[in-house]
Amino acid sequence: MSRVYNFSAGPAVLPEEVLKEAAEEMLDYQGSGMSVMEMSHRSKVYDNIIKTAEADLRELMDIPDNYKVLFLQGGASQQFAMVPMNLMKNKKAAYIVTGQWAKKAFQEAQAYGEAVKVASSEDKTFSYIPDCSDLDIPEDADYVYICENNTIYGTKYKTLPNTKGHTLVADVSSCFLSEPVDVSKYGIIYGGVQKNIGPAGVVIAIIREDLITEDTLPGTPTMLKYKTHADAESLYNTPPAYGIYICGKVFQWLKKMGGLNAMKERNEEKAKILYDFLDGSSMFQGTVRKEDRSLMNVPFVTGDKELDAKFVKEAEAAGFVNLKGHRTVGGMRASIYNAMPKEGVEKLVAFMKKFEEEN
Ligand SMILES: *Cc1c(COP(=O)(O)O)cnc(C)c1O
Repeated sequence: MSRVYNFSAGPAVLPEEVLKEAAEEMLDYQGSGMSVMEMSHRSKVYDNIIKTAEADLRELMDIPDNYKVLFLQGGASQQFAMVPMNLMKNKKAAYIVTGQWAKKAFQEAQAYGEAVKVASSEDKTFSYIPDCSDLDIPEDADYVYICENNTIYGTKYKTLPNTKGHTLVADVSSCFLSEPVDVSKYGIIYGGVQKNIGPAGVVIAIIREDLITEDTLPGTPTMLKYKTHADAESLYNTPPAYGIYICGKVFQWLKKMGGLNAMKERNEEKAKILYDFLDGSSMFQGTVRKEDRSLMNVPFVTGDKELDAKFVKEAEAAGFVNLKGHRTVGGMRASIYNAMPKEGVEKLVAFMKKFEEEN
């Protein structure tokens, strides 16, 4: 067996310990005589898996009691529609557009009401987070929407926008559980788990209870109402059962690692190794404004497309895979999520140094 250092933006690296445990339990989960993939989601065994996963997530994020935790499907992209369908009572919402995912959410919302772009960083290819301290937010906006960590461009909000009393909705797909958050500042925190938590197919939405109502836009399908899933504790229909089980294992791993404060420290340390190298390099440069740099996704370029391609190819041959930048931006991107060991980043930097000397 030979494992690579996987810098994919998602689906992405998972803790090896978790994968090994899942392998051990594959044929017989804790004496049940079957795999978690084969069991009823209504069984006692499975109920314990999903309840424990939720309890561990609540503990990790210190989620207040007046928030529901939902395990959903449809990818983060489905939330682009679910958010307005469930929240746009006044048919108006404010969007801050800081990358492709925020833009897609903004465009999707236009099908359900008036989506107002209150700030954007598109003028400089999304390489920064705009000043959100005093935005012109419509009085009657139902919510303010952000994508908190921009997976493709590698920027992250270091302070949340001043929503002027409006509900904040955040897509945290690529920074989920990377550091502590104050859940009470948000109305909804959601993310696809395939970036920083688990396998593709699960979306976790943490929603303040007063936002979960019957009063959704006309025609909202049963499956797209938060209330449907909240009332049934994520078991309205068959949930992505195996994926939730793996997420649960990652939550346990995170607790063992010391929780989100410890992860933040680890992630800062890892990111610093890479950013410090980029800042000192005469060949490689980071592409975003320094104060907005993401701890999770680190895009960089050489400034020469052919050299970029050569780097990606040679890195792959050396066991550092998925370093090619997103197709819309080119260059390189190293995603260094929770499960990427520090050693992986150190070895990548050593490889980059060597490449720089040789080219
Ligand atoms: C990957 C990603 C998405 C899209 O996720 P899907 O699960 O593929 O729909 C949305 N938002 C962010 C921030 C992402 O990183």
